[in-house]
Amino acid sequence: GGTVLAIDAGGTSCRALLCSQSGEVLGYAQGGPANYHSIGEGQARKVITKLLQSLPCRPSSVECAVFGLAGLDTRKDREVLTAVAVDTLRAAAIQTDQLLLENDGMVTLIGATGGSDGLLIIAGTGSIACGVALDGRRVRVGGWGSRAGDEGSGYCIGMDALRHALRTADGREKQSGICAVILQEKGMVDVEELINWLYSSDFSVDSVAALAPAIFTLADNGDWQARTIVNNALNELSLMAATVIDKLALSDTNLHTVLAGGILEKNSWLREKLAHSIQKLAPQAHFAPAVYPPIVGGLLLGLRASGGLVLPG
Ligand code: BGC
Repeated sequence: GGTVLAIDAGGTSCRALLCSQSGEVLGYAQGGPANYHSIGEGQARKVITKLLQSLPCRPSSVECAVFGLAGLDTRKDREVLTAVAVDTLRAAAIQTDQLLLENDGMVTLIGATGGSDGLLIIAGTGSIACGVALDGRRVRVGGWGSRAGDEGSGYCIGMDALRHALRTADGREKQSGICAVILQEKGMVDVEELINWLYSSDFSVDSVAALAPAIFTLADNGDWQARTIVNNALNELSLMAATVIDKLALSDTNLHTVLAGGILEKNSWLREKLAHSIQKLAPQAHFAPAVYPPIVGGLLLGLRASGGLVLPG
């Protein structure tokens, strides 16, 4: 007994960390995209089962298992994902006294601040903004998934680029470097091949998001349309941050602010512009690197729940 298992299941990748009550790392494993909204429940079960089964020194029981999950957005998601958690733990022969499920953004924020108040914007495959006030109030904005949400995310940037490529291909929009770069990224010869991919079983939300870094390079090199797309992402992420600040009236606290996710990690222009726009709304915002990575946020929650650690807040 006395161990805590944390699972960070994101839209781009997932990981699991096993730790003793005293904080000693007992095992770590990594896997692929795990958001069931994007990959389907069946595939999410497979990915998480494989992740848990690949943990070295798998314990037969843990005190607490904490899942931070992209795609945990509604009460129905909580029902579906609770069953996924229970079944995948069983498939890996791990028993747990306690089971906690949280949205990945909240777990990331807890890790990033070490368990105190703060503001977090994630732009990875998906996007979300979360805040925790000094009095413990929590709020989330955006993060409603690829079909109608996730503004400013890698998926949205990739989709904007794809739409633009098709418009330029038949002459509705002025040519830019985007179409050529997409074809090159995907190893395709023409737009027809691109359309085939869009409706093939190879199409996935994370593979659209994977186009974003190439669009960033284009934007850095001055491509007008790539710049427009990145600018739109900036505006959307700024709006999400502004809404969290507003809802929690965060402007009068010393606000630990973290910008996370593959998109914000890869694009320093976007990161700096977003930081600047947040700073204007909340002058007390201070941008600090995450104290701990997301998976440790899960661990902190688990240790707190099992009485092994006292967190502020
Ligand atoms: C999901 C959210 C998640 C966000 C960031 C979105 O696609 O719907 O649940 O928090 O991505 O990973």
